[in-house]
Amino acid sequence: ETQAQTLGFQAEVKQLLKLMIHSLYSHKEIFLRELISNASDALDKLRFEALARPELLEGGGELAITIDADSKAHTVTIFDNGIGMSRQEAIEHLGTIAKSGTADFLSRLTGDQKKDAQLIGQFGVGFYSSFIVAEKVEVFSRRAGLEPSAGVHWVSAGDGEFTVSDVELPERGTRIVLHLKEGDHEFADQYRIRSLVRKYSDHIAFPVRMPKPAPYKAEEEEKKDDSVVAEVGKEEEKQQPEFETVNHAQALWARPRTELKDEEYKEFYRHVTHDFTDPLAWSHGKVEGKKEYTSLLYIPSRAPYDLWHREGARGLKLYVRRVFIMDDAEQFLPLYLRFVKGVVDSADLPLNISREMLQQDPAIETMKTGLARRVLDMLAKMAKDEPEKYATFWKEFGTVMKEGPAEDHANRERIAKLLRFSSTLADKPEQDVSLEDYVGRMKEGQKEIYYVIADSFSAAKSSPQLEVLRKKGIEVLLLSDRVDEWLVDHLREFDGKQLKNVARGELDFSAIQSEEEKKAQEELSQSHKDLVERIKKALAEQVSDVRVTARLADSPACLVLGQYDMGAQMRRIMEAAGQ
Ligand code: ADP
Ligand code: MG
Repeated sequence: ETQAQTLGFQAEVKQLLKLMIHSLYSHKEIFLRELISNASDALDKLRFEALARPELLEGGGELAITIDADSKAHTVTIFDNGIGMSRQEAIEHLGTIAKSGTADFLSRLTGDQKKDAQLIGQFGVGFYSSFIVAEKVEVFSRRAGLEPSAGVHWVSAGDGEFTVSDVELPERGTRIVLHLKEGDHEFADQYRIRSLVRKYSDHIAFPVRMPKPAPYKAEEEEKKDDSVVAEVGKEEEKQQPEFETVNHAQALWARPRTELKDEEYKEFYRHVTHDFTDPLAWSHGKVEGKKEYTSLLYIPSRAPYDLWHREGARGLKLYVRRVFIMDDAEQFLPLYLRFVKGVVDSADLPLNISREMLQQDPAIETMKTGLARRVLDMLAKMAKDEPEKYATFWKEFGTVMKEGPAEDHANRERIAKLLRFSSTLADKPEQDVSLEDYVGRMKEGQKEIYYVIADSFSAAKSSPQLEVLRKKGIEVLLLSDRVDEWLVDHLREFDGKQLKNVARGELDFSAIQSEEEKKAQEELSQSHKDLVERIKKALAEQVSDVRVTARLADSPACLVLGQYDMGAQMRRIMEAAGQ
């Protein structure tokens, strides 16, 4: 080995390592899942790069992951003959965190073990999780296409720095050796590892190979005669143990639905998202016909830390006939469904498709429409059959769904049915009133869906414009999310009924006012004509009209917007945008 170089981890890595080891204490075994996940990614990448440069496969050999555990040396070794890393790549990828929003994520950690574990889970601990169980981690790697002499040996105790040096590696790919901590020797057991692989990595599409278990008898004999153990060990090394595949080794989404258990779907979700918690729902299906593709789409149960980051990861994993093409393919779902995770596998896109091509291909637009429909159907089903789950969904992702009507005109009606609001019926901030519920409760003669919009729930709830409507028992939707004004501007109506801002223009009470009320209103207007004129004059600069109103019950006066004025929230958004 030559050219040893000791480098410090990026500050964020140091911080993550410390927090992770502390917070994930009770989720130790995830290290194996992360390392197998990386090995699988590395194989995917090699297969993808080899499409254009077949020489990278160096003459063939099965793409596979090999795991071995040595209970005497207390080591676990994970090897993949995938894309590998150059020295420079090892320094970058195993010394820094490249993800957007890392600083924000770190600042949200609280020190509360349980909460942090969840956050870290969402963020994805990846390679660094090795240090939960290892006191020393060694990585031997060679990038596909480079000479055997271009191997790199990376080693670290996870305490702030790592060392890299050159090493000759005849085999392409990456070998990771974990030297287990004193208290974690249990993971150097073949059976333990094997059961973890079955549990967490069965869905990995490449074979995960492990030594065949020795026959029971041989083990007994070994125990009997302690004196020859050392020599027996030597013999075994020379013999090369026989390896066997311990997982399904088949792309999960390509297997028939009937064959798959919920647990397998959930594990696959973890592989795709790194999220510890179970998804709320998933939808797995195949579309045949002009465009043939399989999709497996998940609704997470919590909003990811980067849902509102402009650069946040979104989109699906794209495969073409099982060959991994890219992560975060954004073109397959509209933006308001950016919380959906999963895989789409096309049967007819070209293998060399690029992001740019995806943007231009009209076939993608068709798939996007189909996939959006699939998600909306899944949500409609959840809302109908599992309202509690749906409430969780709405709490996490409702504000994103509210972008839907503006973005996806074709599905406006479908999205409208999925929306939930607060209303004067319960007067609580939880949004659980659907437009269908509202319409079902409309008073006889009421033609419009009333809403009020304000900066906060409590401001909306105490709007003076609501007084009379409350008295009359007419329900009003209470809107206070930033996106709400944008939403009502694009939704406009539901089930043939206009959405009507009670603080805008004149309210048509004619259908729900009694004859006496109408008469009294008329008389009031007449008798106050002079007063109204005087106020109009006095406020000529400030207001465009003054009216006697049936809108109020207790307050003497209120301000309303003209029918076509821009709402207050919208005005603020425009101002913020410099308009
Ligand atoms: P992620 O997998 O989310 O990118 P990780 O922390 O798991 O994050 O891995 C960091 C990076 O290290 C990977 O993106 C990859 O570039 C590199 N890496 C890790 N394991 C391997 C491997 N077995 N083969 C090649 N590269 C790897
Ligand atoms: Mg990873």
